[in-house]
Amino acid sequence: MIICDPYSREWKRLAKARSQPCLPQTSFDLQEELENARLRHFSQINVSPHCCFVDYGHLACICSDRETGFAGVYVHQILNHPDTPREVAALICKHELLHVEIPPREIDGKNTDHPPEFWDRENAICPEKRIAWAWIWENLWSCIRVDKKREGITVLKQWKSRWDLPRIGLSEIDIAAYSDRGTVL
Ligand SMILES: [Zn+2]
Repeated sequence: MIICDPYSREWKRLAKARSQPCLPQTSFDLQEELENARLRHFSQINVSPHCCFVDYGHLACICSDRETGFAGVYVHQILNHPDTPREVAALICKHELLHVEIPPREIDGKNTDHPPEFWDRENAICPEKRIAWAWIWENLWSCIRVDKKREGITVLKQWKSRWDLPRIGLSEIDIAAYSDRGTVL
């Protein structure tokens, strides 16, 4: 999901959420994952956006203002967990950076954040896409919903009470069982 308007309510709420830092619980460094993704796939983006977990909003998004050049990637706190695989973070980082490379555009009179060229490029640079999404749906299904209108994944309020439930590892997941689930961040 991309949020382009610095004056929007969503942008301001994310900025506020960012000011309340979440202690990292993951086995990897989220900012480092973003930097790796940028260096490997997005050489035209000169500086890595600030990246952090926030207790607010959708599963992931990027706030990007072309005028000021500001960009910040926000990942929901539900993924700030020791069992979250690096592959999930890698997919999210590449997806959000792709929003900077391939901006929203109109198709058949309707504006979309994810035009066909977006998916082509994502499929080309995200070999972990299917397993990462299968992990997300396998482990978080009770706390997330597809938000078709906003083109993202909503995190439900009950996520906090389920955060510390055990999460299944990548090797135990049947990818095919989740092939029809949403894959839009
Ligand atoms: Zn997106």
